[in-house]
Amino acid sequence: MTDFRPLAEGTATAQQAIAPGLHFIATPIGAARDITLRALDLLAGADVLAAEDTRSLRHLMEIHGIALSKRPLVAYHDHNEAEALPRLIRALEEGKSVVYASEAGTPLVSDPGFGLARAVIAAGLPLFAAPGPSAALCALTLSGLPSDRFLFAGFPPSTRTARQSFLAGLAAAEATVILYESPKRVRETLGDLAQSFGGSRRMALCRELTKRFEEVRRGTVEEVLDALGPTDPKGEIVLVIDRASPVTHTAESVQAALDAALQTMSVKDAAAAVAAATGLPRRQVYQMALARGA
Ligand code: SAM
Repeated sequence: MTDFRPLAEGTATAQQAIAPGLHFIATPIGAARDITLRALDLLAGADVLAAEDTRSLRHLMEIHGIALSKRPLVAYHDHNEAEALPRLIRALEEGKSVVYASEAGTPLVSDPGFGLARAVIAAGLPLFAAPGPSAALCALTLSGLPSDRFLFAGFPPSTRTARQSFLAGLAAAEATVILYESPKRVRETLGDLAQSFGGSRRMALCRELTKRFEEVRRGTVEEVLDALGPTDPKGEIVLVIDRASPVTHTAESVQAALDAALQTMSVKDAAAAVAAATGLPRRQVYQMALARGA
């Protein structure tokens, strides 16, 4: 059973002191109520707030009735790391609690935060994460594709040649592949996917998750591409693509496996071993083994 940490006594959303250190929080990817209670506590109680987009964070705080008051709200994104990072590290060295939110979803997942995490760890300062929404996991959950092993590969490169070799490198992955893509490029990327992964590979196109026009299209790469029609779709998109099918076995490859097994095993055991290895019905393999042994 999960070892849940209880709320502070007598409070609905624990207004407890926030531990000094950097706290990454996840924010909604659409529906504002997808913020967690813990993220709200952190936003309400931290000494310093930092965000990829300070306006988005202020808006989210307004929705949830959290005042900024006199606390600093620092912008930290890919283009101002040189100035913002030392400022945040200084605050942490002074023993302050700092909360960081990227524009939407989980920081570091195709979003800023990695440089900050690395600097905090290198300085031996405390680092925490309050988990929550991420479009990648939301899409995987809805895709109907195997979720036992998945490979999140972020945004494919925007230039065609780089994208094609990026996708070719993923095509044989033994995992469900998750990609983020801009609506303007999604048709091109689906076309490239049809080439590298094959048009018959199963996939899901997940659009506007948790928002009003949420949509999930499931089918083969070709079917999803056809269904898009001539106009670019609107909104935010995650592509989830099935792994390559297991190797298909030919009559020759099964015979060869049987021949090898029959060298050391009885017909019955050889058939059982080859059936297990290939996934073919045991009875069918047994008939082949009998014919081979005759
Ligand atoms: N950090 C975010 C996360 O945890 O999902 C991702 C940020 S990345 C800059 C933005 C991309 O995430 C979008 O271009 C889209 O591919 C995907 N995304 C974000 N929100 C989404 C949503 N509501 N529906 C579908 N895709 C979404």
